[in-house]
Amino acid sequence: MSGFSCPACGGREARPWVSAPDPRGTVPGTFAIVRCETCGLGALWPRPAGEVIRAAYGGDYGPHGAPEATGSGPARRRPSGTAGTGGKALVVGAGGGSEVARLRAAGWDAVGIEPDERAVAAARSAGLPVTRGSAEEGPAPPGPFGLVWFPSVLEHVRDPVAALRRAGEALAGPSGRVVVWSQNPDSWTARRYGADWVHLDPPRHLWHFSRDALFLLAGRAGLRVVRLRTRSRPRGWLASAEIRAARLGSPRDLRRSRFRKALVRPLCWAADLAGAGDLFEAEMVPTSARGAGNGSGPGSRAPGL
Ligand SMILES: [Zn+2]
Repeated sequence: MSGFSCPACGGREARPWVSAPDPRGTVPGTFAIVRCETCGLGALWPRPAGEVIRAAYGGDYGPHGAPEATGSGPARRRPSGTAGTGGKALVVGAGGGSEVARLRAAGWDAVGIEPDERAVAAARSAGLPVTRGSAEEGPAPPGPFGLVWFPSVLEHVRDPVAALRRAGEALAGPSGRVVVWSQNPDSWTARRYGADWVHLDPPRHLWHFSRDALFLLAGRAGLRVVRLRTRSRPRGWLASAEIRAARLGSPRDLRRSRFRKALVRPLCWAADLAGAGDLFEAEMVPTSARGAGNGSGPGSRAPGL
């Protein structure tokens, strides 16, 4: 694959994986996604031009809109272990501020950083402390933070190692942690739905981090994965099934059906037990931190071990 360079392992060889259109229909064309031969990282390749990527966030891109109604919501919508703890938290790629609001409602002194001007305005008009800025460089809210959270954001970032390194530097010493939520390209849903998998989301998702890629990226950024699990929601199955039905010419509204959600929920539990759920939750600590596990506990596996 000409010019390919893996940000996780440095590999130069990649093989074709899937090709898919923008599921939101914002940008025309079909986008090719490849997998690194060495670590399995998925990448949109060749990389679309900057203006194509910027255009993909136009229109009514949901995460950049007004935040959801306040309230902490179910615990599954926050990183594991954030109930009843509190402290300073930073949400990277805060969008319209929903995740900042959730952490604040759960007792955290949470702030956000977000590159999109309209999203920042939406968050601020809801009274949420979100400042404009990039994940990789430039001004950032003052830390240090006990928690830095990337809620399905790292896959949008041009340089994920730089973003993780910066997150690690903003931590309050060895007790702080970085939590990355990111779609799992080896999940049961990705395998079942292929080009119709909802989390492909080209050209917004530049990367699809495999389990091995997450460990390698953390290492390159001075961090260590101490826990890795998957968390699935019925939405991933049902939204993918909707995309497939629409492509086959019979659009259906499946996500609102309580019956279908109930039907799919046991599949989500089984997938998470097998570590093959839709969404990774990777918890990382500075490499220098001691006593935080060795990354080889249940549900996690270090590459090459
Ligand atoms: Zn790689």
